Amino acid sequence: MPVIRQIAQLGQPVLRQVAETIADQADSAVQTLIDDMLVTVADANGVGLAAPQVYEPLALFIIASRPNPRYPQAPQMEPTALINPEILWMSDDKEKGWEGCLSIPGLRGLVPRHRRIGVRYLTRAGESREEEFSDFLARIFQHEFDHIRGVVFLDRVESTRELVTEKEYLRLAAG
Ligand code: ZN
Repeated sequence: MPVIRQIAQLGQPVLRQVAETIADQADSAVQTLIDDMLVTVADANGVGLAAPQVYEPLALFIIASRPNPRYPQAPQMEPTALINPEILWMSDDKEKGWEGCLSIPGLRGLVPRHRRIGVRYLTRAGESREEEFSDFLARIFQHEFDHIRGVVFLDRVESTRELVTEKEYLRLAAG
């Protein structure tokens, strides 16, 4: 039975570590970690979760996109595990969008991200995939990719004036 893992909060050193490449994705500890992360991200209502956020400094994250008020066009997808992800290219154009983080509760910030990226990763079954992501998916990917390099969205906010509380953010999103 998968278990809901505890989520590391900002200040925990694991969030600032560079994650290690996974040598064998078929390893039962890795497969268990993926199962646990899938129930953890669902329980937390997140759209993404990186392994360091559950105290495992490994190059692995979950993307769990679904439509939301800010991104009504966001694809509804089956939550997917991406192992040893790489960014192959990034579009020059960037776009600012609101982000939050399960490790930084109560805050939202405007974060510039590349609008389109080309990526490569391993699936949990061990297949190598190359894909192009745009808009919301590209944003989630870049946010989670940052986590495996010890970077959080606050590092990318251009001004502290572009930070708001979750409560004010929800008011903005509604209005
Ligand atoms: Zn995050």
